[in-house]
Amino acid sequence: MYFDSPELPREKVFRDPIHDHIHVQHQLILDLINTKEFQRLRRIKQTGTSLFIFHGAEHTRFGHSLGVYETARRICDQFQRNYPSQSPDDGLWDDRNRLLVLCAALLHDIGHGPYSHAFEKIFNTNHEAISIQIITSPETEVNRVLASVHPDFPAAVASVIEKTYPNPQVVQLISSQIDADRMDYLIRDAYYTGVNYGRFDLARILRVMRPHRGGIAFHFSGMHAVEDYILSRYQMYMQVYFHPVSRGVEAILSHLLERASYNYGHFEHPLKHSATLLVPFFEKNWTLSDYLRLDDGVLTTYFLHWLDEDDPVLSDLARRFLHRKPFKSVAYHNETDQARVDRMIHLVEAMGYNPDYYTSLNSSYDLPYDFYRPHQKTKRTQIELVESDGTLTELAQASQIVNAIAGKTWGDHRLYFPHELLKDQPDDLFKEIHQEFLALYQELRQLQITPE
Ligand code: ZN
Repeated sequence: MYFDSPELPREKVFRDPIHDHIHVQHQLILDLINTKEFQRLRRIKQTGTSLFIFHGAEHTRFGHSLGVYETARRICDQFQRNYPSQSPDDGLWDDRNRLLVLCAALLHDIGHGPYSHAFEKIFNTNHEAISIQIITSPETEVNRVLASVHPDFPAAVASVIEKTYPNPQVVQLISSQIDADRMDYLIRDAYYTGVNYGRFDLARILRVMRPHRGGIAFHFSGMHAVEDYILSRYQMYMQVYFHPVSRGVEAILSHLLERASYNYGHFEHPLKHSATLLVPFFEKNWTLSDYLRLDDGVLTTYFLHWLDEDDPVLSDLARRFLHRKPFKSVAYHNETDQARVDRMIHLVEAMGYNPDYYTSLNSSYDLPYDFYRPHQKTKRTQIELVESDGTLTELAQASQIVNAIAGKTWGDHRLYFPHELLKDQPDDLFKEIHQEFLALYQELRQLQITPE
């Protein structure tokens, strides 16, 4: 089944630093952007705690969502111009999928909340499941706008995001190892963080992309542009997304939310200032509309209130977060260093800190690219290069650079602890314990950490 919706008499544009213009050609897209659930994305930052390191990273999920829409729209245009389907099953592009692709691209992150990563861990929410709920639940404006096209349209958009939609071209445009989502966030996050990696030739990639029977492929002549994209992704994860200090701020944020939630369950008067909008989450009994009331500003306001709460742990963690006192960290090898790490956590406790809130273990790993492995649990769609005679070659078979990193995960395990423990302290009450802690820290620093 195909869905259609009238075009605007004259297209509308949004100015965008990445794509220059975001072109809106359907009233439906404009109506979706104007829903309250989508406007909420203006109040949720795209990269969470990264802005404590890269202060430019103030950009929001709103801009990214528009960017993914625009990237998908350009791909549809290019496919329709160069590879229009002539007969069913010819493996070319059927432009009757366009509206579905555009809506899925625009709404793919609609379920994100404030500081998704930390929030999800503590309150057991899931932005992907919430995206589907926002799209399919009759109580949202997004759902009403989508259903105005056809009663089955919301479910179709949801199935693209869930990757169950039967046409692989449509699904791979929105989620695969090289999709409209990843291409937009890599370039956008590089731009706003101000780093010099993460850039690649988007115009060239969009130009060499083409549909084929099993999904999306890239013309062989575009191999170097695709290589560059893979390397950009690898560098952005290593340098920005997995930045040890950003993870040190996130560790505090997680513990702060965890402590507030703990206090709510354990004390009769847990908070001087009531955190009304978080109560349903403390009580583990929240609805979609509770979730949609949260944003970065709500959390920041509560953190400001918590600065002068009676619980010293809560107020101290709020201070560390708001005044940017990230936990320090040291990388360790998961198997061989476990005894040292356990000992260090024990020493932190012996120095008077509650280790549940003042230490944290964080593992951040990314797989920049992998080819299809039939026996693995997560099945990846590999990147295919297509030659003029139509033969397909998997990217790592053709590119030695990609081959060198294919199938390897990169990242590290880190132990986090309060920053002051790396400083000499006058009148150190715990001098011996502190010395032992510092000695273990130095030992770990000197051991070679190799990627696993
Ligand atoms: Zn996204």
